Amino acid sequence: MKKAVFPGSFDPITLGHLDIIKRGLDLFDEVIIAIGVNADKKYMFSLEDRKLHIENAFKNEPRIKVSTYKGLTVDFCKTVNAGFILRGLRNSTDFTYEQSIAQTNSSLSKIESVFLVCTPNVSNISSSIVRDVIRNGGDYRGLVPRSVLI
Ligand code: ADP
Repeated sequence: MKKAVFPGSFDPITLGHLDIIKRGLDLFDEVIIAIGVNADKKYMFSLEDRKLHIENAFKNEPRIKVSTYKGLTVDFCKTVNAGFILRGLRNSTDFTYEQSIAQTNSSLSKIESVFLVCTPNVSNISSSIVRDVIRNGGDYRGLVPRSVLI
């Protein structure tokens, strides 16, 4: 069984993440959405809320699992027996950032990183832009799944 971990902060999950996750299901038997917990980082949404947003967005998809983890992503992959890390690419900035992480991860383990280029209609969406729109009272309904709005 081919399992991939899709790691991130998901503060909050966006339609950009959804694009990559749904397409990841065409490649893998199971996708584990893994919320990385970093004690030094300030989040807008609590860990519980971020997890609920994701669980509710995929409640009808048994091949998606949601987890939280601390520490290295490759170590988490080993604990859940996943051979792949799935990541999304929006632009060359993402690529440059992801390249060094993937190279480091591959020096630490045999886990392969797999990248999907996002569909053009979500390339402008990031969690940080969503948070900015929320902070400034803007309409963010077109940027996130319905589960974030409830
Ligand atoms: P991180 O803090 O690790 O960057 P994010 O939650 O911001 O976590 O992102 C998780 C993954 O989702 C990353 O691979 C990121 O490139 C990807 N991603 C985020 N937004 C989009 C988008 N609009 N289209 C495609 N991929 C995206």
